[in-house]
This record gives sequence, C-alpha cells and structure tokens, in this order.
Amino acid sequence: MSLIVQKYGGTSMGSPERIREVARRVERFVKEGHQLVVVPSAMSGETNRLLALAREVNPDASAREIDVIASTGDQVSIGLLSIALQKLGVKARSYTGYQVPIRTDNAYSKARILAIEEGNIRRDLAAGHVVVVAGFQGVDEGGSITTLGRGGSDTTGVALAAALKADECQIYTDVDGVYTADPRIVPEARRLDTVTFEEMLELASLGSKVLQIRSVEFAGKYKVKVRVLSSFTDVHSTDMGTLITFEEDENMEQAIISGIAFNRDEAKITVLGVPDRPGIAFAILGPIADANIDVDMIIQNASTEGMTDFSFTVHRNEYQRAMQILESRVKPEIKARGIVGDDRIAKVSLVGIGMRTHAGIASKMFGCLAAEGINIQMISTSEIKTSVVVDEKYMELAVRVLHKAFELDKAPDQEKMRP
Ligand code: ADP
Ligand code: ASP
Ligand code: MG
Repeated sequence: MSLIVQKYGGTSMGSPERIREVARRVERFVKEGHQLVVVPSAMSGETNRLLALAREVNPDASAREIDVIASTGDQVSIGLLSIALQKLGVKARSYTGYQVPIRTDNAYSKARILAIEEGNIRRDLAAGHVVVVAGFQGVDEGGSITTLGRGGSDTTGVALAAALKADECQIYTDVDGVYTADPRIVPEARRLDTVTFEEMLELASLGSKVLQIRSVEFAGKYKVKVRVLSSFTDVHSTDMGTLITFEEDENMEQAIISGIAFNRDEAKITVLGVPDRPGIAFAILGPIADANIDVDMIIQNASTEGMTDFSFTVHRNEYQRAMQILESRVKPEIKARGIVGDDRIAKVSLVGIGMRTHAGIASKMFGCLAAEGINIQMISTSEIKTSVVVDEKYMELAVRVLHKAFELDKAPDQEKMRP
C-alpha cells in the first residue's frame, strides 16, 4: 500500500463528466489498495471568471478580498469531487486550505506555504477515506484566506506530498507529460520520460507552465517523487508520464538540450544616455527594488565618451509602474537622456544540463535565429540555460526553428549523449 497525492488541473475537472472521470481514476487507485489525497483545481476558466468579476465590481479591490473570491473555485471542486467519489461508493471527505489547515504567509495572491498540519488528513486516511484538499489556497496567521499564485494547486499537491511523506505526487493535466516544448506551439515536440529536477526548475521558471515553479522548488527541497501524467487516458492506463529525477543517471537518456521554454510576461526598459560611473546601476534599480518590482535580465552597454545605455526587463504587469518610477524619480536624479520601453517582447530559452559539458550551444542558437532574420535584443546565460529576448511576434517561429535545429523531436542517440 502506498500513499499517493494526486493533483488534477482545471481542464481535468472541466465538466461534470470530467469530474466523474477523475473520480473513477481515484477509485481505481483506492481499489488497488492505496491511500489517496487528492487536490482538484478549480474547473477550467473558473479562477479567471472570478478574478474578472472582482475587477468588474471594484478595479481597486483589496488583495485580501480578491483571495477570498479567487479561492472559491477550488472549494467548489473539492465538494464536487467528493460527492462524485461518494456516488461511486468511495468514502471521501473534503477540506479547504483553512480546514486542513495549510498555513501560509500573508502575501495575498502569491502566498508561500509555511506549514501543513497533518492531523485531520492522517485521521481520515486511517479511517479509510480519500481526502480531497482544495488547491491554491491557505490561511495566514490572522485567519485570512490566502492564495498561492496562478497554477498554485501544483504547489499544494507537492507540499502535501512532502508533509505527508507520500510515496509519489502525481500531477494530472491535459498533456501526458513534460515535452521538449509546449506541444501546443510545437506539434513535433517529444515527451520526456524523465527530466532532471534542475532542468524542470529552469523550464518552469522560464515559462513552461506545465508545473508551477514553487511546486518544483518544493519537490527539490523535500525530494518528492513527482510525475506529470494525463487525466485524459483510460483510467486503467499504465502510462508513466514524465518523472522528475534527482540523480543524473549515467545510463539515462540524456540529451544536451532537454527543452525549450518561452515567456511573454516580460517588458524591456532602456535608460538612455546615463553617465558610466560607479553607483549608476544602483541609482536605477534601487528605486525599482524599493517598489518591490522584480528585475530579470540586465544589460549595460559599452560606454562612449563616458555615457552608456542601461536596459533591463520586468514583469509586464509592472511595466507601467516601473516606467513611472524611472521618469519621475530616476531620470531627473541621474540626468538620463531618456527612457524607452517595449512591452511586446518575449523570452525564448534553451535548457539542458548537457550545456555544462558542451561548448557552442549558444552560438548555434544565435546562428539559427539570425538565419531566420530574428533580431536578438538581450541575452542571458547560466550553466544550464541560454535565454534570448526577441520581438514577441517572432516568438513562436523562434521556438519552432530552435526545436528543429537542435533535433529535439528525435530521441537522443549515442552521438548526442552526454560524455
Ligand atoms: P493544469 O490546468 O492541468 O494545471 P496547465 O494549463 O497549467 O494545466 O499546464 C498544462 C499545459 O502546459 C499544457 O496544456 C501545455 O500547453 C503547457 N506546457 C507548456 N510547456 C510545456 C511542456 N514543456 N510540456 C508539456 N506541457 C507544456
Ligand atoms: N485554480 C488556480 C488557478 O487557476 C490554481 C490552479 O489551477 O493551479 O490558477
Ligand atoms: Mg497548472
């Protein structure tokens, strides 16, 4: 008998029929003798609908109340899944984040899980129940409802698996695993049987929304065995999906590049004509940091006659605010010539641990983009990733061209294996 945590995404819970299907899958695992904790997401589109409704009523609504509203979609789902299970004769009990409780900090809309109290869940499991826990939500110290950021039920699932020391956390979604690129953009994308934790962390942070980044962080910290699977296969399917691994097994299939991620969430800002002297980066980015705006890529150009240009990217939602801070506070102070911005950019990234041992990946990437006439606006690299910023309208083309050039549609052969 194993203890398994299963998380089902919005599409998997998208209709009464889909919910009954999820219940049948849970029933199968129960009949196989496993203990189950299930985290169903809000029905697809529901969280968006709730957020839009809140904005319509009050565009300046407080973050605390928005979380009260946004969390209800997931509450409806736990009730619906529990009654679907009961209809099959499976004992089930639902819990909101508050009832578990799942304790978080009070950063509304992006709260972090601090602790999960296991008592209620353990008791119900011992009594033979399937425990159905609402994803995406928790409760702060003062008793207020919090939400964990979009896609946050992945994190609820993995955090529960960590707290309960579950044997496995299964993330059921509308694709049958982690692919070399989003299969909606690259139809030739190939499913990976395994992906290393480090690669998954990069892919998730660079835009592959198949797993929320914090869920991957949890998996790494507590060594949770996470598998990504489809809920659209036959309930008795033995498909294994994609397993996130922690060991770099020499014998494992291992390509130089594991995947391509993309992200349209950023905007680029350039401060023109600033004096090239100590303290300039701090003068520009200090007020941005003080306003709690995260900066991703940064570039400072070579200077001519003591003057330079300074570019960086921020989340698109923070673009206007960052521009205002620069115009009103930074520009007069450092006497910059001007500030220009572009919120129609996209970041495309190659990810693979094989990059550590292979030179020339970045230059091949740049060559491929040049051959298509795609201008690279910014570049950033780390040990296992190379990212470029391009005009948003070339993003899909860039992803497809790179997928082809690096032959990600083909299983890695001996030649391309890591030495
Ligand atoms: P859920 O509602 O189940 O949480 P999401 O929409 O959050 O589902 O995540 C699944 C989606 O992630 C897929 O439908 C797919 O379009 C997208 N995706 C992006 N990158 C990848 C990738 N590398 N592999 C698989 N899916 C990906
Ligand atoms: N329902 C939440 C959202 O739409 C959480 C999730 O789906 O993971 O973001
Ligand atoms: Mg998701």
